Amino acid sequence: MKRILFSLLLVNISLFGFDYHLKPQKVNDTTWCFLGKLEAPSKHNGGFMSNHCYVNTGKHYVLIDAGGTYEIAKQAYEQMQKIADLPVSTVILTHEHDDHWLGASFHKEKFNAKLVGVASINKNYDKNSKTRMFRMLSADAIKNTKIVKVEQEISEPTTLKIDDTSFQIIPVGVKAHASEDLFVYVPKNKTLFSSDIVMNGRITSNRDGSVIGQLKAVKMLEKMDFKNLVPGHGFDTSKNAMNETKQYFTLLKQRVLEAIENEVSAQDITKVVKMEEFKNKALYDELNSRNVFDAFNELEFYEEEE
Ligand SMILES: [Zn+2]
Repeated sequence: MKRILFSLLLVNISLFGFDYHLKPQKVNDTTWCFLGKLEAPSKHNGGFMSNHCYVNTGKHYVLIDAGGTYEIAKQAYEQMQKIADLPVSTVILTHEHDDHWLGASFHKEKFNAKLVGVASINKNYDKNSKTRMFRMLSADAIKNTKIVKVEQEISEPTTLKIDDTSFQIIPVGVKAHASEDLFVYVPKNKTLFSSDIVMNGRITSNRDGSVIGQLKAVKMLEKMDFKNLVPGHGFDTSKNAMNETKQYFTLLKQRVLEAIENEVSAQDITKVVKMEEFKNKALYDELNSRNVFDAFNELEFYEEEE
């Protein structure tokens, strides 16, 4: 019986395609975001598990991140057309994790949008790369999705002016969530897009990141004068959106260093440092122990800077 249900489910998906029922969330008068599920990518969510945002610049849309697949990007754009039917001029890609940028293959194909972002996308992927999304999603969910190239690599603070809106693109400069991370600030309405430096409602994956780099990046974000902060994952886009991330990395550093001081070994660290305050957050069981273990390796020989 289970088998029959399972094959029926597959038939449904392949007959009708994925409909994500995407709803843009209004952040302010010119900004809308598609806020993905607080899950890992799966056949079930079709890769809709990261945030991407549209900024209306008058005659165009500028995007911060692009969604995880061509299909997600396409359905999101169709929703935005109902609000204002504008072409996409530019897509800013904040880091190299594929749930944030593979969707740009839609904006490239449909609008020849300019792709601006981290150099690590060009360094680490080529047109034959089979990234995580290609491996984890159904053929139907990933169809039409292609690896795209960043056309303007950002390695220092850069301002783009599109129509009447300026976008300040700021690289963190050290490994934080990934080897390179950008955040984006729109002074016109004081909106800050943090990329995956900030998440809320879920545990982050720090597998490519650094506790010390994350804390440095949080400090950089705190210096900005913002009314809204849009996280890379999570639904809170308020002024307080950064609180969880700041608390998580501050406590993680403090507790792991304390355990090292008390000669706790690598194999025991996840039994000693559990980050209980976060145990009800999404993905705690999947990601927290790994973050603690990686933090131990990073901090084992760490010396606080003066
Ligand atoms: Zn992400």
